This record gives sequence, C-alpha cells and structure tokens, in this order.
Amino acid sequence: MRGLYIHMPFCKQICSYCDFPKMVSSIENYRIYLDAIKKEINSKRNDLEGITSIYIGGGTPNVYPDNLLEELLDYIYPYLKNSKENTIECNPELITDSQAKLFYKYGINRVSLGVQSISPSALSLLGRHHKMEDVTQAINILRANHIQNISMDFIFGFPNEDIDTLLADLDYVYSMNVPHVSFYSLILEDKTIFSYLLSKGKLKLLDDDIIADMYDIINKRMKEHGYKHYEVSNYAKEGFESIHNELYWKEEEYVGIGMGASGFIKPYRYSNYKSLKKYLELVEEEKIEIDSSEEKKEFMMLGLRMLDGISLSYYEMKYHSSPILDFDLSKHIDSGILKIEDDRLFIPEDKLFIANIVYEEFV
Ligand code: SF4
Repeated sequence: MRGLYIHMPFCKQICSYCDFPKMVSSIENYRIYLDAIKKEINSKRNDLEGITSIYIGGGTPNVYPDNLLEELLDYIYPYLKNSKENTIECNPELITDSQAKLFYKYGINRVSLGVQSISPSALSLLGRHHKMEDVTQAINILRANHIQNISMDFIFGFPNEDIDTLLADLDYVYSMNVPHVSFYSLILEDKTIFSYLLSKGKLKLLDDDIIADMYDIINKRMKEHGYKHYEVSNYAKEGFESIHNELYWKEEEYVGIGMGASGFIKPYRYSNYKSLKKYLELVEEEKIEIDSSEEKKEFMMLGLRMLDGISLSYYEMKYHSSPILDFDLSKHIDSGILKIEDDRLFIPEDKLFIANIVYEEFV
C-alpha cells in the first residue's frame, strides 16, 4: 500500500479553529501553485508507482475553478485510474454540478465534506459560511453524479455547544445516510482565531466532562445507526472505512505534494515548507531519517488510534520484539486502559477519551 496526498492550500475564508497550512484565495496564485505542484509530482514520479489511494486535501481544493481543477485531475489521471480510493475534500457550498461531473470523469470516487455542524450559530462561531441546505444540496449533486462514497466531517465540544445541538447534528447525519462520518473534538491550537479570543477572555471552553459525555453519546448513537467506530474520530458503514487514512494509521508509505505536505518513504520522512513563497522556491523544508525506535513509537501511537489496535504478531514480525517489552505498557494493561485479546493490543472504546495517558509512552 502506498498513498499520494496533494495539498491545495487556498480557502475563501479562514475558520476560527484552523491551524492547517492554508491561505486566503487569490486567483493569481492558483496558476502559479498548480504549476508548482505539477513540477513536484513530476520530480517524485519514481515514488508514485503502485499508488493505491489518493487524497486531495486542503485548504479547500474545490475553491479552484473547473478549468484548473480539470488540469490537475488530468495531470494525475495516470495515478487516479489505477488507484482504488480517490478522495477530494470539499466545502459544501462550493460544489456545483459541473464540478461533480469532473470528479466522476477523472475517477474521484470519494468526497469528504467539511460540514462541522448544521447549527447556524455554531457555523457562524466556527467561521464557516455554509448552511445545512448547502450540505444537503451538495450531497444530492454528488449522488446524481454517481458519487456515493461521501464522508462528512463534524466538530464537537466547541464553545456554547449543548447536547441538543449535538443531537441535531447526529440526526442530520442519519437523515442523509452517508457511509462515512468523522467527529473531531475541538482542539484549541495556537495561532488560531479561537486561541486569540481565549487569550482576550472572549471565549469560554466547555468542561472536559461535558466533552467526554458528548463523545459517549456520539459513540453510542453512531453504533445504534449501523456505523462501525473504527478509529478514535471515525465511523463507517461496513466496507466504507477510509483506505487512505488507514495507511497513515498503519505507518504505510505515502508521498506528500504541495505546501506544508509531508511524506514518508522509508526510511525518510519529509515536510514541505508551510509558506507559499518558500514552497515555490525550495519545496522541501526537511528530510529526516526515521530510525527504528522512532518508527516503533509512531506505529504504536497511530495504531492505537484504531479501535482494533495493533497486531502483536505483526509488531513482532516487523521489529523482532514485543511492544510490552519495548514500552512501559504493563501498568496500562493492569489498569484496564489497554487490553489484549487474542493477537490484538487495543484501547477499549470507553477508555478512548483518556487515551492520552497511553500515548504519552510514545512521545
Ligand atoms: S478549516 Fe478548512 S476551510 Fe477552514 S480555513 Fe482551515 S483549511 Fe480552510
């Protein structure tokens, strides 16, 4: 398995919580950036043999006009046509019929929609500019254009959110019956609008206990509606787990293209510059060799995000040792935060909210 990630950094506006590599759209930069990523793709073509999944993320990839989006899709079509899962992240209010037709024409078979919430006041607080009706319309357009594998991203635990708001978001998920949903707990990152407001005393965060209750509600209700909770923040109908994301969680190789993207081609991990100017001039910021102790830590950290956890025999085959010996895990097994069943070492669903206690072993 090997993936390709392409980062499209432009957004119409900046959301209050966002710390992704992004910048406000400027039409004159679209062409310059497209030429730069085509050049980077060409320079990494030897690593792109046998790509099994492609993810075009952002930023907001579908802020691009159709002609430039088509130029990108056409350029990577040799990879798209042979890859199993091809995802593009989209803002719902920007999806058009002609755009969905392009997706279908070039083999995009999965669309991830940034919904976040359907509550108008929540969307306004989060800095999003769509309405629930835009999401419904986007899903209808995609389905009319043969794209059934749709994922919706939601955020929970944001300031002022109450249980009724969360329940309304969950009910909307079930009414749209999409096969994949992500619920991310709000993380307050530095250098975001939220962190600025918090520092000025203009924002009050929810208590951890309330957020933990919300997470329990999500887990319970998603299960009741036929979604498998397969990763800390991800839920899927049978057979719709994200192939591309599993590749990150399972420490497989991937090529990252674009501003702020990172890649992992053994034994190297590299990151591209997060500033457009530097990316256009120099592309990569750093390339570091990952030694086996670092690789083990990443394998454990990412693998334990999966509800199935890690396979002990796979770990032994890969590293010729046991994670119980390599890390101080016995105390977590004794306390019940970690469990072993057959060949699997995993964090039980009801302990995921305190999983950081285990993750600290791998930092
Ligand atoms: S959350 Fe997404 S749409 Fe909002 S600013 Fe960040 S990258 Fe852009």
